[in-house]
Amino acid sequence: MAVADGGLRAALVALSVASVLFLHECIHLAIGRLAGIPAAFTGLTSVGIPRADASLYAGWRLALMNGTAPLVTVLAGFVVLHLLARWQNGPERLRFFLSWWAIFGIPYLGLQLMIIVLPVDFSGNGVDSAAVAGYLNAQPWVLAVLSFAGFLWYVRAGRLVLHMIEIADRDAPKIGTDARIAAWRHVAAWGLLVIAFAGAMRFALEAFASRLPGGSLDLPAMLFGWSGACVLWTRWRSFAARGVWSGWLIPGAIGLLALVPLGFIGGGNDFAQLWLLELPPVFAATMLASDQRGIVAFTRPRRGRA
Ligand SMILES: [Zn+2]
Repeated sequence: MAVADGGLRAALVALSVASVLFLHECIHLAIGRLAGIPAAFTGLTSVGIPRADASLYAGWRLALMNGTAPLVTVLAGFVVLHLLARWQNGPERLRFFLSWWAIFGIPYLGLQLMIIVLPVDFSGNGVDSAAVAGYLNAQPWVLAVLSFAGFLWYVRAGRLVLHMIEIADRDAPKIGTDARIAAWRHVAAWGLLVIAFAGAMRFALEAFASRLPGGSLDLPAMLFGWSGACVLWTRWRSFAARGVWSGWLIPGAIGLLALVPLGFIGGGNDFAQLWLLELPPVFAATMLASDQRGIVAFTRPRRGRA
């Protein structure tokens, strides 16, 4: 599948991400029912029970219903990564479709850990990890550490996303560049990185104060700060950056934005924000692909690309 097939690529991204989300919800539904909870779809991307009913069911049943789906989602991402590396001759479109399960699932571990400090909820609002932590009665400092570790994983996941792209896209150019990045871009990128990490730290620490981080600007600071730093640190003239940009980032953005209208069905759902959560790791992968040495070398995949 040539990069020129941008429309087809975007459609495959939308289908892939929607399918992994649907499977995730079906796992909530199936495990909930198996555990004796009358779970149901409460929206297009949510499965759970009415908030008032949570006290009717044993904690372990609720934890199982909420915890299994994210575990399987993350696991599926790693399974796809390893299978596609060994299945180089499979149909290209299917490989591209499946690769977005990994691009979704691998950073998803970080996202779920980040939001572990949010209030416990069993209505299927996506805060799966918090529901499990609530059952385990985890200490606030444990939640804070896990939340910050989640952000570190999310940042680091860009390296695995690039690895996935290199496996799925044999034609992607692999030549970075050591062209210099202007001083102002370094300064601005460091500034955004500090804002992102400060947001992650504050988001985590608010668990101690038992205040609800929801509604604050911490999450946007983390996501936009990290993405912005990646954009500034990308050597855009390198072949590799252009390859990831045209073959993955643009189709990914179009596919994810095409899902946004679905996000307003039935009082709002995850489709409205997916682009916000899924694109930063792809920006990170673009940055890492473009670089031969320099500031991001420490996170660069070990595979040679000269
Ligand atoms: Zn879930």
